[in-house]
Amino acid sequence: MSLSTARPLSELVANMSESATIKMAQLSRDLKGKGFDVISLTLGEPDFDTPDHIKEAAKQALDDGYTKYTPVPGLVELREAISRKFKRDNGLDYGSDQIVVSNGAKQTIANVCLSLLDKGDEVILFAPYWVSYSAIVKMAGAVPVPVPAGVGQDFKVTAEQVKAAITERTKLVIFSSPCNPSGSVYSLKRLEEIAAVLAPHKNIFIISDEIYEYINFTGKHVSIGTVASVKDRVITVNGFAKGFAMTGWRLGYMGAPQFLAKACAKLQGQFTSGANAFGQKAAAYALDADMAPTRKMRDEFLRRRDIVIGLLSEIRGFKVNKPEGAFYIFPDISYYFGKSDGTAAIRNSSDFCEYLLENAHVGTVGGDAFGSPDCLRISYAASEKQLREAVKRIKTAVEKLK
Ligand code: PMP
Ligand code: GLU
Repeated sequence: MSLSTARPLSELVANMSESATIKMAQLSRDLKGKGFDVISLTLGEPDFDTPDHIKEAAKQALDDGYTKYTPVPGLVELREAISRKFKRDNGLDYGSDQIVVSNGAKQTIANVCLSLLDKGDEVILFAPYWVSYSAIVKMAGAVPVPVPAGVGQDFKVTAEQVKAAITERTKLVIFSSPCNPSGSVYSLKRLEEIAAVLAPHKNIFIISDEIYEYINFTGKHVSIGTVASVKDRVITVNGFAKGFAMTGWRLGYMGAPQFLAKACAKLQGQFTSGANAFGQKAAAYALDADMAPTRKMRDEFLRRRDIVIGLLSEIRGFKVNKPEGAFYIFPDISYYFGKSDGTAAIRNSSDFCEYLLENAHVGTVGGDAFGSPDCLRISYAASEKQLREAVKRIKTAVEKLK
């Protein structure tokens, strides 16, 4: 038997972990398919529809013949709109030749990692981090170096922690603010402190993932790319999925140093040829159009956040903070480790999450996938009725754990 028959899958795929968010969403769907009344608080996906005016723009684009390949880094019109948006909303100067549009921010991050990283390079991840960062870093042959921040420090790493994690192999730092999964928002002061630590290390790049920019309850979004000492090494990632409720459109983008934008376009030219044409046309329109639906969505998320925090804090053993953005709550549930209902033993957050799915029929995602094994991610992108019912069921289920 040839080696290729004995082990048909590549090492790359065989060693890759499945996305925990997508896996838990599927497990919830499967259980629902069997007839159970499952409430899935798994996926980070707004439960709102794309605003009508953006859909209309896509329909118009189809009628206008936007049905062909576009330039690999994106329609010029869209890149110009993104360049204006970066300036207007974030105070960032990225020319359209520094912008690449991809099939979702996920691909944007993969493009950057595959363009920058070599085997053995180290990538600092502020933990909790979004699941796919570590998988993508490993895919590039590099080594994720999580820097942990628990509920006690509001899930925000300090500049001292970042400093302690830097080695001569460090090539990249990745974080999101507002953060998935914690909802934490980094202040300008904290970002300046972190930038001051990174400034002398001219070989370290920073991915600032700002996809939750518009779901920010502090009233002000700040980008580390505005900090002069590091701005030439910041890749600002954003996308349409969250702020415009366009997850299924698969559109993300970045502003980056020009050499990196060129490299990512080269890579993308061999991988996907770029994002879909009519979606890009509608996205260009969305950036300069009415933002009222986005603001309405943000206000509704804020309202739900307060409801869910109120309800969760009544559950024994749930340590909850007050996230300032995104649509997740990330309670520390380590109190339950070592407990059992007589049948299922809870050893870690995956067990806890499985227990909730089986016993409360509520889908969540274990914090271990996000580099925070003491926590549990709850997405509150669901109706108030579902959220109230879900927390009620969680409370009943955990009361059985002794
Ligand atoms: N970054 C973060 C922090 C996310 O939560 C997500 C997914 N929701 C992405 C990137 C990827 O977004 P997209 O759907 O545009 O690929
Ligand atoms: N990013 C979203 C989440 O964290 C969607 C799923 C995914 O892309 O992993 O749930």
